[in-house]
Amino acid sequence: MDFSSHILQWYQFERRDFPWRSTKNAYKVWLSEIILQQTRTSQGLNYYLKFTEAFPTVQDLAEASENEVLKLWQGLGYYSRARNLHHSAKFIHQELKGVFPNSYKELLKLKGVGPYTAAAISSICFKEVQAAVDGNVYRVLSRVFDVETAINSSKGISQFQTLASQLVSQTDPGDYNQALMDLGATICTPKNPKCSLCPTESMCLARARNIITERPVKIKGIKIKERYLNYFCLEHDGKFLMKKRTENDIWKNLYDFPLHESNHTSLEDTMTSLGELVTPFDENAFNHIWTKHYTHKLSHQKLSIFIHHVQINTPLVGKKWLSLNREEVMDLPVPKPIEKFFEELLNPLDNKK
Ligand code: SF4
Repeated sequence: MDFSSHILQWYQFERRDFPWRSTKNAYKVWLSEIILQQTRTSQGLNYYLKFTEAFPTVQDLAEASENEVLKLWQGLGYYSRARNLHHSAKFIHQELKGVFPNSYKELLKLKGVGPYTAAAISSICFKEVQAAVDGNVYRVLSRVFDVETAINSSKGISQFQTLASQLVSQTDPGDYNQALMDLGATICTPKNPKCSLCPTESMCLARARNIITERPVKIKGIKIKERYLNYFCLEHDGKFLMKKRTENDIWKNLYDFPLHESNHTSLEDTMTSLGELVTPFDENAFNHIWTKHYTHKLSHQKLSIFIHHVQINTPLVGKKWLSLNREEVMDLPVPKPIEKFFEELLNPLDNKK
């Protein structure tokens, strides 16, 4: 039996049941693929259900406002994926007259759809013979075939794509791709793979050579940038000063408070920026209530976030600022630490540090 037959046979009995697996609706499969990128399935499931309920068709998603889409996405991170999803839904609705692209080549034209997603959708929904190569697939193939090339090098990416294209099932590419992803997620895991339950154990070279922990090979060295964000939550009479983030940075198009960023943090730094911020107000007209600290990790950044809650005794005004009550803020998409901050604001018993 060849590699793909082993995988497909195993999948018949071991497949995981998810709502997106009981449909060939390309819109829903696309939603699931975008949501599940770099997200645990258990977390992604919740978001998939929320999105399909709020936007059952691509037209519903296209007609939603960006705020609605980002709000539903809130907490999942990688907000550019949500913006691209929305952009592509509008493109399909307006430019393609609502007809979802039905081939690998056409899917690749959608913003936010790369080779992996296009291969997954076209193989699952349209039976196109395309190999979807994600992190799970890299791991399984590097172990079974003992590939030494680094998976994050350009040589590795092309070598693994060629190998995967040679292996993909010609008769059932959709199930084959999903089977390989499941195998990587449940059996051939990064740590402690369950080799005794693996359908390809008999042909796995890394197992035979006892080098499983050395595969896949990855070039190290992605530098994590540290950032220090001082947020000022200015409140007057139950209203908060907020603005939309428009820069090409993290959390684009989400809403946050007045911000001072530095490459280090100190109390002096914080108080200087607070002083600058409240200059338009009477200097005795503010009262610093409490400060909360959050650490937030992104793929390439570690954020140290201080949110200073300050009450102002004069009304909040400013051309580029919005003055919003708590309910209005809750309707807007906000970064996860600001969401947490507001949750703690509602629980005054444990919000003082
Ligand atoms: S035998 Fe073990 S290392 Fe090899 S593919 Fe299966 S689970 Fe992974």
